[in-house]
Amino acid sequence: MARRETPAAGPGSRALIVDVIRSAAAISRVELADLTGLTQPSISNIVRDLIADGIIHEVGSTGSIRGKPRTLIAIKPANRFGIGFHLGPDTVTCVAVDLTGGVVGREVVPRQPVDRLAGQFDDFTAGLDLPRSRIEGLAIVAPTPYPGSAETADPHTLRAELADRLGLPVMVENDAAAAALGEFWSRRVSREQAFGCVYLGTGIGAGFVFGGALFRGASFDAGELGHLSIHYDGRPCPCGNRGCVERYASMAAVVADAGVSLDGSATTSSAYDALARAAVNGDQAAFEVLDRAAGHLAVAATSMVNLLDLGRVVLTGPGVALAGSIYARRLRAHLERTAHSRQRHAVLVELSAQPRDAASIGAAALVVQASVAPGHTPGPARMVRT
Ligand SMILES: [Zn+2]
Repeated sequence: MARRETPAAGPGSRALIVDVIRSAAAISRVELADLTGLTQPSISNIVRDLIADGIIHEVGSTGSIRGKPRTLIAIKPANRFGIGFHLGPDTVTCVAVDLTGGVVGREVVPRQPVDRLAGQFDDFTAGLDLPRSRIEGLAIVAPTPYPGSAETADPHTLRAELADRLGLPVMVENDAAAAALGEFWSRRVSREQAFGCVYLGTGIGAGFVFGGALFRGASFDAGELGHLSIHYDGRPCPCGNRGCVERYASMAAVVADAGVSLDGSATTSSAYDALARAAVNGDQAAFEVLDRAAGHLAVAATSMVNLLDLGRVVLTGPGVALAGSIYARRLRAHLERTAHSRQRHAVLVELSAQPRDAASIGAAALVVQASVAPGHTPGPARMVRT
């Protein structure tokens, strides 16, 4: 990598160094200086503080071509934890991650009134035997509601009440943005990479990480991929637009296109899972429905890649848990044929390793990033510390 202009050590330097150590897994101080452009004294000071804070540790040494062995440093995993709650339609998925983004605990409980969330936090962390002093905070994620639709709870009030009750920082984020940050953190994606995530959940969302930070837009609403129109005069959408890709490729749209009627105990997600399972097991009719949805999504996701010149995209969310290969194949093929950047660079398309839990893992990773790399904190409007 080309050495950049030497930046002055400032508040962002600590976040930069944590990010470079995270993406490298283990790295020497000399390499840190090369990769960040910071001076050796700045590196030494920040590394010393990070070791004192228990965020990184020395993990041995490596030989050097100049003879002197170099001490390697890495993120210290099992020292501090972030907690993420994903509020689904019927359940709450609770996850705890360590500083590397590795999952140390997971529990799925029935959805309860929001005033029970603090009690749920206490039960979950006590069950994992995580002392409060080593928990960095809680992030809650939920799908972004349609404009004008009734919200179940005002996020700002919920956040403030929970922060007050728990005595910890509390963040609120949408599911796709959180999932993107989680994939960025746990996959050790370099901050140099223009990184995006497509989240197939109740709707279709996207999240972007640029320069190591989640991109949020003017009102924390960036990434509404589901409402990118692919047909000028297409199907009407509750958002007010027509032809939104969500009307063709969401789990509900797939179930409707397959002609499945929801009766008895069937839900959209159970009916969708049955179709996805059939599609990958050789049921031609189910495959064609999924493949058509994947084709629609590929068109929208390619526009997203072109608009932002992304280098790497991860597909995640419950919608790709069983038949993700169908979506990945369609998107790769569409990008290879039509991506504007195809002569300059390939666009890597990957499937999440934990698509059903991606939003809750991402929520917990948000807490970790805000704690150990605070140059990326989203600002006072989104984080409350009492
Ligand atoms: Zn729409």
